[in-house]
Amino acid sequence: MSSDESSTPDLYIGGTWVHASDGGTRELINPADGSVVAVVDEATPDDAAAAVAAARAAFDDGAWPATPVGERSALLSRIADLLERDKEKLSRIETADTGKTLVESRIDIEDVVSVFRFYAQLVQVESDRLVDVGNPAVISRVVREPIGVCVLIAPWNYPLLQISWKIAPALAAGCTMVAKPSEVTPLSTIAFVRLAEEAGVPPGVLNLVQGSGAVLGNALTDTPDVDLISFTGGLATGTTISKVAAQHVTKVAVELGGKNPHIVFADADWESSVDQVLTGVFLHSGQVCSAGTRLIVEESIADRFVAELAERAKKIRMGDGLDPASETGPLVSQQQRDKIEAFVAMGISEGAELVVGGARPSEPELQKGSFYLPTIFDKCDRTMRIVQEETFGPILTVERFTTEADAIRLGNDTQFGLAAGVRTADAARGERVVRALRHGTIWLNDFGYYTAAAEWGGFKKSGNGRELGPAGLAEYQELKHIWHNT
Ligand code: NAD
Repeated sequence: MSSDESSTPDLYIGGTWVHASDGGTRELINPADGSVVAVVDEATPDDAAAAVAAARAAFDDGAWPATPVGERSALLSRIADLLERDKEKLSRIETADTGKTLVESRIDIEDVVSVFRFYAQLVQVESDRLVDVGNPAVISRVVREPIGVCVLIAPWNYPLLQISWKIAPALAAGCTMVAKPSEVTPLSTIAFVRLAEEAGVPPGVLNLVQGSGAVLGNALTDTPDVDLISFTGGLATGTTISKVAAQHVTKVAVELGGKNPHIVFADADWESSVDQVLTGVFLHSGQVCSAGTRLIVEESIADRFVAELAERAKKIRMGDGLDPASETGPLVSQQQRDKIEAFVAMGISEGAELVVGGARPSEPELQKGSFYLPTIFDKCDRTMRIVQEETFGPILTVERFTTEADAIRLGNDTQFGLAAGVRTADAARGERVVRALRHGTIWLNDFGYYTAAAEWGGFKKSGNGRELGPAGLAEYQELKHIWHNT
């Protein structure tokens, strides 16, 4: 997997580790310094088709779907134990691949553990539902069964975390699967699959391919052999996959982008609001689907609030994620930085006022990495593309409001509906606003937290499924009604 062990195969198909069938590989770059982190196998469409066929065969032979719930749960618990054992190693892999700080990577891996533990427990307490049909001779039951073969496609920003939100419930439900991490950051998923093999996942149940989505996409999605595609990534890719899948009436669950408002009323606690508006947008250099990129602040405090944000943003320490002094790392790649630079140029040309950032850092030690300064645009309005489009980088836009109704209108004025923050000391107003906002997760006087036990997902163009919580397991299940005339 790493450059010094490039002979180790990285594709896992039908319980065997194999190289790409055409010998293709991809170099992975550490975004903090431009060095090569690893060289990994790059699957071909035939390899992806072979992985789907292996998952199909493993499902159709019936052994894994029929494995008692207790055994499936025990497997998830063993995986969680091994994740805990390898937590530090996995965290370092994640930091080298994504650039995020080690502190963030450690939190991610702890969250991965909690997802496996949650579904290990939940799957055991699920039960059939008895239905009273008004006839004592009839026993009517609704039972849950695994949906079948799942294709699990993940993005690069939370590599192992996002794919574990899919693998854990799919395994718990008794599905078989093909996992495809982002080609930009596959290393933690490769390490994870080795660990799942060690935990005893049966051959063919969990298959792994990595490589370009554009190249492998059709082999994974344009096929009648797949029963569910669970995708997390951008809106354009999610739309493409949904169209392809519709031809086979394949179920699709998509978790897409966000342009998330963070609404601050004048009575909100000042210190925590400044802190969380900053971390809400600049954590992981803004490469977070639920980043609070759109500050909507009450006019009476706006000048002072933005001035303080700008002062604090200038002091955020950037650096290699492995350096404990770094508060934020680089963008994931030079290409991602190019996109952010284009967005900043667009914001300026649209007439937004650049308050801070808008450039690469000048420190010599940061020149080899894809770093970009935390950037704030004031005097924005809803018609600007910089306000409406997901930038996926360290850019905060500021809009002002004077009434509660205005704040709600602006908070809902987006094609997305993933997450939002509301800050006020007035509990009744807080409740009114959170209920009026059309977003899948809303934080009231907090920002960014989630738990494996509560559903995650988007309204509107942020998606159509749910991950985590009981609904995150239900995505991987079919319901069967059994009418038994005794
Ligand atoms: P992306 O859409 O470019 O890629 C996501 C995955 O899809 C990758 O594995 C890629 O290889 C694959 N892919 C690309 N084309 C494909 C095709 N035609 N068929 C099948 N697979 C294909 O997204 P990205 O740049 O990796 O990630 C960033 C996006 O992910 C942002 O929009 C972000 O908001 C979103 N995201 C959403 C959530 C959420 O919970 N809603 C979480 C994390 C990231």
